[in-house]
Amino acid sequence: MSNEVEQEDGLWEKALGVIQARMGDDVAKTWFQQTSLGSIDGTKATIVVPNEFYGGWLGHNYRQAICEALHVVRPSVAGVVDLEFVVSDQSDDAPAPADRPHTPQGVIPSQPARRSTLNPHYTFDTFVVGASNEFAHAASLAVAEGRAPGYNPFFVCGGVGLGKTHLLHSIGNFVRQKRGLQIAYVTTEQFTNEVINSIRHDRMREFRKRYRSIDILLIDDIQFLEGKVRTQEEFFHTFNSLYEAKRQVVVSGDQFPGEMTSVPERLRSRFGWGLLADLQPPDFETRIAILRKKSDERGITVGDDVVHLLAKSLTRNIRELEGALTRLEAYARLTGQTMTTDTAKILLRDLLVTESKVVRVVDIQDAVARRYGKKVSDLKSKRRTGDLVMPRQVAMYLARSLTNHSFPEIGREFGGKDHTTIMHACRQIDKAMQTDHEIRITVERLKDEIGNA
Ligand code: ADP
Ligand code: MG
Repeated sequence: MSNEVEQEDGLWEKALGVIQARMGDDVAKTWFQQTSLGSIDGTKATIVVPNEFYGGWLGHNYRQAICEALHVVRPSVAGVVDLEFVVSDQSDDAPAPADRPHTPQGVIPSQPARRSTLNPHYTFDTFVVGASNEFAHAASLAVAEGRAPGYNPFFVCGGVGLGKTHLLHSIGNFVRQKRGLQIAYVTTEQFTNEVINSIRHDRMREFRKRYRSIDILLIDDIQFLEGKVRTQEEFFHTFNSLYEAKRQVVVSGDQFPGEMTSVPERLRSRFGWGLLADLQPPDFETRIAILRKKSDERGITVGDDVVHLLAKSLTRNIRELEGALTRLEAYARLTGQTMTTDTAKILLRDLLVTESKVVRVVDIQDAVARRYGKKVSDLKSKRRTGDLVMPRQVAMYLARSLTNHSFPEIGREFGGKDHTTIMHACRQIDKAMQTDHEIRITVERLKDEIGNA
């Protein structure tokens, strides 16, 4: 990944840093590792991609994220620029883009997606066990030790940041080290990518052979299989042949298999053949234990009162706790000062505020209406015009996630709608946010805006 623009100021790398921070390592690795910046001016940017599939995918899913990242790292670039995706001329089917005289190096167009490696830090030893994850942990260990042949497939289910990936890696690390078996860990995005590359380069036979010769398949975030018919098909066959050969399959997802309505029934029912274990948000004691363990591991001293403050306020997931620690750690290292609760409150203002602030439904309706250029009365109306449905559902979703109101109460605030309408809206947006990053970012921004108003 190098070309003139990047050598000049590392702009794209910085932008990728922003994308990685926001979207996570998996997304950054899978979709951005092989990209580079072709050209950029104030209103237009050209991104070089290894093949058309990437261009389509990035354009569809990450357009807004890319624009925002570029804007963040170089404010003179407008927040919304025209993005054009051009296929690298090292690839086999693309002419060289006219505005880019040099071929970017290091772009490897025709290789299958790189298989993820396991994070050596994600082990059973570093996993803190509490009531919320006890069962999932015990079951994972049993699977790793090979004590549980009936747990096939083993399905780990839980929301964002609750430890699914950590458990899958723990199984992988354990099996590789202690039993010397052949494992494959892939995210569903990488699996998809491999399927597509294999089809494209006529390597389907190799693909199948590779997957069918492993002892344990660990596949992360299966919810991203939604809607991808060809990948579902391939996964189904891979699964069946491993299963028939009595090889272990471990799957993670953010919903119960039965709830993943756009994964085909035949796959969903297979996920139910083995064992299902779910991860819940950690309780207070577990949050304390996690904070203590993580600060020890990082070699930072955090006083009891600060640990208490974090554990009390950050209740949703473990990633959030880690994020808070990282910030405190940076501060402590930079200033060499011991952390007081007052300093922690200032440093973590944005994280702590949204927890305590009382948000009103009218504030949400205002913010959403403004964002989408609608009137509040439109959001409350019964009109089902196409361009009203989404803003209305977003507003309902936010009302549910940012206030303590029940579904019927929210229904009343939206011009007397039935509670099932609100429930439906929440499900729709929930689902859309998993597959559509633009929606996710819009909703998250609205959340910030409303939370900080
Ligand atoms: P998920 O895949 O469910 O979104 P992750 O496995 O990525 O969540 O977990 C988010 C972060 O929290 C990771 O850094 C992970 O190590 C950490 N984490 C999650 N659960 C635990 C736990 N029980 N003990 C220690 N760390 C945990
Ligand atoms: Mg994960």
